[in-house]
Amino acid sequence: MKYDLIVTGGGPAGLSAAIEAKRKNINVIVLDKGAIVNSIQNFPPSMIFFSTVELLEIGGVPFIAGAPRPTRAEAVNYYARVAHSSGIEFKGNSRVVSVRRPSDGQSRFTVEVKNEITSLLTFMSADRIVAASGFFDNPNLLGVPGEGLPNVSHTYREPGLHFGQKVVIIGGKNSAVEAALDLYRHGVNVTILYWREWFGKSVKYWILPDIENRVRNGEIIARFNANVLEIKPDRLIADVKGEREEFECDYVYALTGYHPDVNFLRYLGIEIDQETGIPKHNPETFESNVPGIYVAGSIVAGYDCNKIFIENGREHGKQIAENLAKL
Ligand code: NAP
Repeated sequence: MKYDLIVTGGGPAGLSAAIEAKRKNINVIVLDKGAIVNSIQNFPPSMIFFSTVELLEIGGVPFIAGAPRPTRAEAVNYYARVAHSSGIEFKGNSRVVSVRRPSDGQSRFTVEVKNEITSLLTFMSADRIVAASGFFDNPNLLGVPGEGLPNVSHTYREPGLHFGQKVVIIGGKNSAVEAALDLYRHGVNVTILYWREWFGKSVKYWILPDIENRVRNGEIIARFNANVLEIKPDRLIADVKGEREEFECDYVYALTGYHPDVNFLRYLGIEIDQETGIPKHNPETFESNVPGIYVAGSIVAGYDCNKIFIENGREHGKQIAENLAKL
């Protein structure tokens, strides 16, 4: 299977790059180790986007939803529909397991792909690669004993699963605050632990007063300057303002943000800034230091997951396609 371009990552940024490339007659395939817009599919089912529809659109295709801020399901449907109507070739459950570069004696990139369900291996080749793998698959770990227990998760889904339980949430920004409020409103006893003085400034202005009032009323217990020391099957131990405190709990959500898979980018030969995690790239073309390999979407911002969202990550594809069309 020969392509002009292989895009790794079927999120909005990868799809946008593929659509823009296809419009320039570039023969492109999108690979994703999960499903299309896999990260969005893994968001809580009741999630409503912070961004309004026009900021989520790709390929210039209007996004019509039931409200200015769409639901998770509307977004999944929209991106799948746009990919389909744009004629994008997409292969899900397809993990890139090896890439041989032209400099290794090949004239093109050779990409080995493993089907995540059948384990079948296939080979593809392409002149160029766009890495748009996002960051939602790689949570920031606490690095404490007990983090791997079955009652600890880095992804929040449904409040109903925890009715009648005690749940501890770790983190102080949007995911942590939204989950705390959702659980509280579904009859769950919620404690939120955050290592700073008060909730993060990036918590959305329409959510912040809600969590602040719930905490002030004692409806949600919050501990600030709290660092987790250990998680056990029935409790969590933290250092709170220098004092050891134990919190009885049935379940723990560590909603501590995400980071890109820099190991994969390094494997591709891309240089990663030690401190910021930013892949070396030309900001005009998004071509990395490896000729023929481009970066797109949230991975461009490195470890800062509050800098590039769908609304600006979708723009990278246009610049990449412009550049590819000139070659
Ligand atoms: P985030 O913004 O990176 O916040 C992670 C939180 O965890 C921060 O409070 C961080 O502390 C804390 N943290 C990180 N490492 C930690 C550790 N080892 N121990 C304890 N705490 C730790 O992640 P997020 O809230 O999941 O948001 C990710 C992205 O999704 C953001 O762009 C956000 O806006 C977006 N989002 C969108 C929606 C929506 O559209 N409805 C909902 C939720 C999130 P610091 O405050 O010190 O950094």
